[in-house]
Amino acid sequence: MSNIVVIGGGVIGLCTAYYALQEGHNVTVLEKGEVGKGSSWANAGWITPSHVVPLAAPGVIRKGLKWMLDPESPFYIKPRIEIELFRWLWAFRSYATQTHVNRCIPILGTLCEESLNLFKALSQALGDQVGFEEKSLIFAAKTDAGLKYCIHEVEVVKKVGMAARVLDLNEMCEMEPTLRTDLKGGAFFKIDAHLNPAKLMVHLAKYIRANGGRIVENTTVNGFELGKKEVKNVQTTHQQFEADYVVLAMGAWSKEVNEALKLRLPIQPGKGYSITLPQTGTLTRMPILLSERSVAITPFGNEIRYAGTMELAGMDLSVNQRRVQAIKNAAQEYLINYDAEVAQQAIPWAGLRPCSPDGMPLVGPLQTFPNVLVATGHAMIGVTSATGTGKIISDLISGKTSFMDPLPFAPERF
Ligand SMILES: Cc1cc2nc3c(=O)[nH]c(=O)nc-3n(C[C@H](O)[C@H](O)[C@H](O)COP(=O)(O)OP(=O)(O)OC[C@H]3O[C@@H](n4cnc5c(N)ncnc54)[C@H](O)[C@@H]3O)c2cc1C
Repeated sequence: MSNIVVIGGGVIGLCTAYYALQEGHNVTVLEKGEVGKGSSWANAGWITPSHVVPLAAPGVIRKGLKWMLDPESPFYIKPRIEIELFRWLWAFRSYATQTHVNRCIPILGTLCEESLNLFKALSQALGDQVGFEEKSLIFAAKTDAGLKYCIHEVEVVKKVGMAARVLDLNEMCEMEPTLRTDLKGGAFFKIDAHLNPAKLMVHLAKYIRANGGRIVENTTVNGFELGKKEVKNVQTTHQQFEADYVVLAMGAWSKEVNEALKLRLPIQPGKGYSITLPQTGTLTRMPILLSERSVAITPFGNEIRYAGTMELAGMDLSVNQRRVQAIKNAAQEYLINYDAEVAQQAIPWAGLRPCSPDGMPLVGPLQTFPNVLVATGHAMIGVTSATGTGKIISDLISGKTSFMDPLPFAPERF
């Protein structure tokens, strides 16, 4: 049994704590704010193994540059002189190739498919209180170009053995009657599921506390006592914590430990927004991606969430109302039950996705300090791959062979 200190109480940190507790370890989660209230709180809640294409893919840069000129587009880089951002963009550019995508797809597929299996068990262990539903996912397109993208995604997903098919307009609107009948059609990804991320955070934290884990909130990690090849303890704003193993699950804040641990974790925060509102009229039943607008729609019973945007704007949680309005406009363009008055009342939420330059997470031990394990960089699939990530980290600490070799996620690969 080891003393494990997990830094960061988001979905990655809490899932790690969950599996480590099951292995009988002593677990302490240190959280600088309130547990679960980072990026993991009001995201779209999708568990989508079908999202196997990494962010760094061909065409993304061209599309990104085009979108940069549009203040209502889903993508934006805040112009600034920041050496780390330049390095990140330069590396991203070199990874955005078809060869890289082909290499990543089966790796991400394995991580995310196993995570889905683990979510089924986790949801049961948490008393089915997190809103986990296996309702699949629809991509909806309103233009020929959008439909072409849907067809391409279906081909990619089918190649890795997951069920997916193109939908004609009739079938799509039968499946999800709140989609407008003047769209073009779309795609159906059977494997995908979703849950309520805030409920997941609340019930995971409750479970961890009830099963002997400690969660210490309002406590910022600000240093480490280093041995020759190990971290001996973790220093915080309040006290220090002895650790046999330390897990870095700090999400978008990960690079704050770079100096203290002589590291270079290349994580950039990718800001996104969501708004959650009561559903009026016919209820939307299924999660939907609005293809041309890159907006995620998730129904949570009588509520609905619209989420989107990727802004590389630094550690800044301020809300750009124009882009939030663009998310609302997108919902109006695709859904018959969009209610402008209700949407006007909704308070936008902002979250920072931890983005790596190659679009793959950073999961595994450090070479410099092998008792420090990194679990970050999950960008748009942090929920989708949280259980698998937590299991890998817990297995590594427990000396067990995990369901996959984490080598492709080696944190010092850059
Ligand atoms: C709009 C939006 C929609 C999204 N939709 C989806 C989706 O549908 N499906 C999906 O898979 N992913 C989605 N994501 C991405 C997902 O939310 C993230 O990948 C995921 O939440 C990252 O989890 P995390 O635990 O790494 O980070 P976080 O949840 O941000 O947790 C990190 C925690 O570390 C704490 N911390 C940082 N520094 C310190 C320190 N020094 N000391 C102590 N604590 C510290 C922070 O306070 C924070 O609570 C979405 C993101 C956004 C923004």
